[in-house]
Amino acid sequence: MEERGEEMKGIEVFTPENLEEAISIRASEQAVPLAGGTDLMVKYRRPSGMLPDFKSNVILLGKLSELRFVKEREEAGKAFIEIGALTTFSELLKSEIIPKYVKEVIGEIAAPGIRNMATIGGNICNASPAGDTLVPLYCLNAVLTLVGPDGKRKVKIEEFIKGPGKTELGQDELLISVSFEKIDFTSTFYRKVGTRRANALSKVSFMGLAIKNPAHSGRSGYSSHSVSADGVGKGKPGKKISDLRIAFGAVAPTVVRSRENEEALLEVLNEKGGKGKGNGGENGSHNAGRIIEKIKERSVYLYSDLITPIDDQRSRAAYRKEVSLSLLKEFIVELCK
Ligand SMILES: Cc1cc2nc3c(=O)[nH]c(=O)nc-3n(C[C@H](O)[C@H](O)[C@H](O)COP(=O)(O)OP(=O)(O)OC[C@H]3O[C@@H](n4cnc5c(N)ncnc54)[C@H](O)[C@@H]3O)c2cc1C
Repeated sequence: MEERGEEMKGIEVFTPENLEEAISIRASEQAVPLAGGTDLMVKYRRPSGMLPDFKSNVILLGKLSELRFVKEREEAGKAFIEIGALTTFSELLKSEIIPKYVKEVIGEIAAPGIRNMATIGGNICNASPAGDTLVPLYCLNAVLTLVGPDGKRKVKIEEFIKGPGKTELGQDELLISVSFEKIDFTSTFYRKVGTRRANALSKVSFMGLAIKNPAHSGRSGYSSHSVSADGVGKGKPGKKISDLRIAFGAVAPTVVRSRENEEALLEVLNEKGGKGKGNGGENGSHNAGRIIEKIKERSVYLYSDLITPIDDQRSRAAYRKEVSLSLLKEFIVELCK
């Protein structure tokens, strides 16, 4: 049976033993879920020694060990990774299933003490524009599984997050897991710009992922790769770059990702090394340099209007925008190498 905990000003704290109990409490008591508490305890904090100032009943999810897992599964011949909502960042860093480029993001979140408590589900449901896991999850077309009294439903991450602190989560629902296709990107690029290395929220973050077709890279001995289902450039194995994904964090109300822009950039990038002008021909590296400059300009043109940061205590809007576009250009240069 669930425990009824301490009462705070008429607010009750519930500690369900399993998911079933948690769902029923969530539905009947309108209780706010608390996972690691690293966002909620800060949000409702009061002076030292005093209980937090929660505004509604609270449901502690800590005992739901069934929501703490990382597993791999096959679906239609593709590998998918599924992560339980209560899995902490420290657990993700230890998992052998989580790709290196996702671990790189998690390794830059907070400091070990927070990472031992903070969960991926909390990061998603908090829906902060500076939530660091959201950037890779948008890039990976992550799908969330929610559960409520009427059963489970799946929602794409970009449909789940509506704005700062706003989500699709029903009052009677819980997030139980997040899943995405396991893809071996050949080019991965992540930068987080914060005030300090540890315990600093992002001023800006940027992720670029791509699959370069080795047949076009001038190196020998590669076979062709598979192309992801939702990846931009899908079904173009003859292209130099067959999958390109770009996402920015902390520069708009939600993570910025545009499949249309990725498609447009992919087209220019693939033209660059193709037949005809600009392939290091007569004028060699000079020509190549000019083309890269053009692609950089094009990328800035494509993304400039989508990057609409605000001034806040962490940074200035103009700085955020400039840094974001510089990181995009840096990624383009990497891709053109
Ligand atoms: C010092 C410090 C440094 C930090 N640094 C970073 C950083 O670098 N990058 C970053 O992204 N974040 C950072 N954070 C924020 C925070 O640690 C993360 O957002 C964390 O992932 C939140 O997870 P949690 O389990 O603690 O969430 P909680 O605080 O328990 O919950 C957060 C929100 O999610 C909801 N929720 C949680 N789990 C579920 C669920 N299963 N179903 C439905 N709703 C749920 C809660 O109701 C609440 O609204 C930092 C926080 C602190 C205090």
